[in-house]
Amino acid sequence: MAVITQRCINRVGGLVDGKLPAFAWPGGYPLYYLDAEDAVLCRECASRANEYSVDTVAGDVYWEGPPMSCGHCGKEIESAYGDPEDDEEDHDNAKV
Ligand SMILES: [Zn+2]
Repeated sequence: MAVITQRCINRVGGLVDGKLPAFAWPGGYPLYYLDAEDAVLCRECASRANEYSVDTVAGDVYWEGPPMSCGHCGKEIESAYGDPEDDEEDHDNAKV
């Protein structure tokens, strides 16, 4: 049975109502997850690790880049600051 590793849970600050959070707190930045095969997972699929066949091993804030799609359900995961290739403005606030 697939599991969510404790390291992953710790990385994103713990579970919310038994699920992995969709956003980092504080800040509200979008989070993405990786399974043991390096596939990107959305929060829902990563949280349903018992039904999904591969362990959820990592989670992190998706800071910048084009939207990624979940490798399991195809849901889009937007980055916190969007795609730098796609946006020439609003860059002064991108890095803190
Ligand atoms: Zn998904």
